Amino acid sequence: MQFIDLHRQYEKIEEKVKKGILNILEHKRFIMGEEVKNLESRLAEYVGVKHAICCASGTDALTIPLMAYEVKKTDAIFVPSFTFFASAESISLAGGTPVFVDCEEDSFNMSIDSLKKAISHVESEGKLNLKGIIAVDLFGLPANFKDIKEIADKYNMFLIEDGAQGFGGRICEKKACSFGDVAATSFFPAKPLGCYGDGGAIFTDDDALAAKIHSIHIHGQGADKYDNVRLGLNSRLDTMQAVILDAKLDIFEDELVRRNMVANRYTEELKDILDTPIVPENYFSSWAQYTLKVKEGQSREKIIEKLKKSGVPTAVYYPIPIHLSTAYAKLAYSQIDLSATEKIANKVFSIPMHPYLEEKEIMYICDAIKNSID
Ligand SMILES: *Cc1c(COP(=O)(O)O)cnc(C)c1O
Repeated sequence: MQFIDLHRQYEKIEEKVKKGILNILEHKRFIMGEEVKNLESRLAEYVGVKHAICCASGTDALTIPLMAYEVKKTDAIFVPSFTFFASAESISLAGGTPVFVDCEEDSFNMSIDSLKKAISHVESEGKLNLKGIIAVDLFGLPANFKDIKEIADKYNMFLIEDGAQGFGGRICEKKACSFGDVAATSFFPAKPLGCYGDGGAIFTDDDALAAKIHSIHIHGQGADKYDNVRLGLNSRLDTMQAVILDAKLDIFEDELVRRNMVANRYTEELKDILDTPIVPENYFSSWAQYTLKVKEGQSREKIIEKLKKSGVPTAVYYPIPIHLSTAYAKLAYSQIDLSATEKIANKVFSIPMHPYLEEKEIMYICDAIKNSID
């Protein structure tokens, strides 16, 4: 059994992928081929924003907008500690200072209460400017953008949506990657919309910001290709990945329906024995991961060990909160209480999640979990 099964998906897109790649082998515009432009239009339309700019990874898709905002060491950018490392790393790479915020135990996403406390703390300390917020759609569930946007506006901070896991999710009819001033996603193969290598995209409605982002993703290029007007990166999506993503977009809506069906089945079967993930009303998750929490007295390690023996793969996202990682442990930026993050890092584990899980596999996994708990 696979944690994420890309084989079954490939059967559905094989024909279109092969045709597209053969076509690229004919025209040989491996970088900046027409296929990338076509994909960008399609992504912008899907998300419902004016501009989609593809780049080399999700990490770059976060770093580039931060470079466009010209963040400095004295700028505080608020980011959850319970997320993938790149959410915070991008801030440091762009030259800013991450200030870690706690999460909500039930949604895993940024806690509004903790965000407010972190802002007051930074304000009263008086060392850093309140510059921006990165809110993460963790495990596919969009963050609480209504409240976060209100706070960003109140303090005149920019808001970046880290939609690396959120692409395909929505709040009411508004799609993930359309929240905030600018959003980033990742096309790493294990993400809800993944390619066959590294890739990412940046989304915004802001024309001036889009122009700057476009320049930065190609070495800060100006109107004259060889007169670079700022420092940038070499961060482009290659043409082959665009073809793969184009084929996957055709089946993406069906896949989202199936992911939700799998998640609902898991929750039905497991809600009485473990803490199952919640989806607030009017929210729709893209289920990048299905993440459970052990209850008081249960041993996560024992459960994982037993599941392994039954052939059920699991993963722990994330065992080490970013503020406790070796890279950031010494950089104690503030004394924000991050106890919810530290607590759930010891309780979470994720089980297989992909659109092609069949009912008998779902039942096998659920039975194995039930049997793993004494
Ligand atoms: C995967 C991920 C990223 C980084 O994306 P890459 O394409 O791997 O660089 C950033 N943020 C979150 C929340 C992610 O899950």
